[in-house]
Amino acid sequence: MEKRIYNFSAGPAILPEEVLKEAQQDLFSYKGAGMSVMEMSHRSKAYDEIIKSAERDLRELLGIGDNYSILFLQGGATLQFSIVPLNLMPPLNKADYIVTGAWAKKAVKEAKRVGAVNIAATTESENFARLPKADEIKLSLEASYVHYTSNNTIFGTQFTNEPEVGDVPLVCDASSDILHKKIDINKYGLIYAGAQKNMGPAGCTLVIIRKDLLERSSDSLHTYLNYKIHAENDSLYNTPPTYTVYIIGLVFKWLLKMGGLEIMYEKNLTKANLLYDYMDDSNGYYTGTAAKQDRSLMNVTFKLQNEELDKKLIAEASANGFSGLKGHRSVGGLRASIYNAFPLRGVQDLIAFMEEFKKRN
Ligand SMILES: *Cc1c(COP(=O)(O)O)cnc(C)c1O
Repeated sequence: MEKRIYNFSAGPAILPEEVLKEAQQDLFSYKGAGMSVMEMSHRSKAYDEIIKSAERDLRELLGIGDNYSILFLQGGATLQFSIVPLNLMPPLNKADYIVTGAWAKKAVKEAKRVGAVNIAATTESENFARLPKADEIKLSLEASYVHYTSNNTIFGTQFTNEPEVGDVPLVCDASSDILHKKIDINKYGLIYAGAQKNMGPAGCTLVIIRKDLLERSSDSLHTYLNYKIHAENDSLYNTPPTYTVYIIGLVFKWLLKMGGLEIMYEKNLTKANLLYDYMDDSNGYYTGTAAKQDRSLMNVTFKLQNEELDKKLIAEASANGFSGLKGHRSVGGLRASIYNAFPLRGVQDLIAFMEEFKKRN
């Protein structure tokens, strides 16, 4: 088998090797079905078990009760930027958005097409290098929901705790940190996440929605854009992204087998702290671009003393089997995305490489 490299890509991103091998095993013929999952009807018995067990396992991982619906949709997190306000903003057509990065700004852009958006807080003037503090968040009185981004993939910041929003439903774009730790699901009205960062391949968007909020979905909405329709049809109103759901299901089983999200979180803390501690101890050779108190466990952003060195490190790392380290153009520098599936060994090897680079340069 061909050798694999360390993939630090922000997304689509690394998958657990065990999952890839299992999928490979079942690719040609899925467990005696005589066909692959890709070729299977989404209404077949075999597929019904695949999608139902993915839902069951997700409920177990996050402790999701019957008062929430789980939807497997298409269109990426980007389509949710529109679907969320279309379904949840009425009748008042007002919502609060906490703006902590480029994805949050895109969410605001779509929400404004539906109603009035109150920017409850923004750190854009500081190029999103930090998150707003609790007392900087100014919620309005009549918001239908409060929207925030739990992990800012581009800027490398992450909320440790959910913002306090009282009784207003909290809506979270968790595309780049879903399942990195156990959360209290009851704090949320709705969580959405594109699969391709921390769950699986591209093509599926997970939506977890509290059932009472489904009552807000108006019958006048276009059918695919209506959460209630998808919930009533168990994500089978139309053809779901069948193969992606299958792989996501394998990732859920991988997480359960490992011992669940508490254990995953410990591993994520270990990996991220190793890298941040190394940077902080490098006497300014490597500096983190995100404020210390807001650093992300998923996307570690940093830079060297100048762009020449950034480029040199990226190029040499890439030639040595560390791929995807180039930072987003709006931040520059480097970004190491170390999602759930990224091995501790890869972080240790990257640090060894960075140390060797530092000595040479
Ligand atoms: C990647 C990303 C998106 C966009 O996801 P798509 O599935 O490409 O639409 C949205 N929000 C966050 C936080 C992301 O990291």
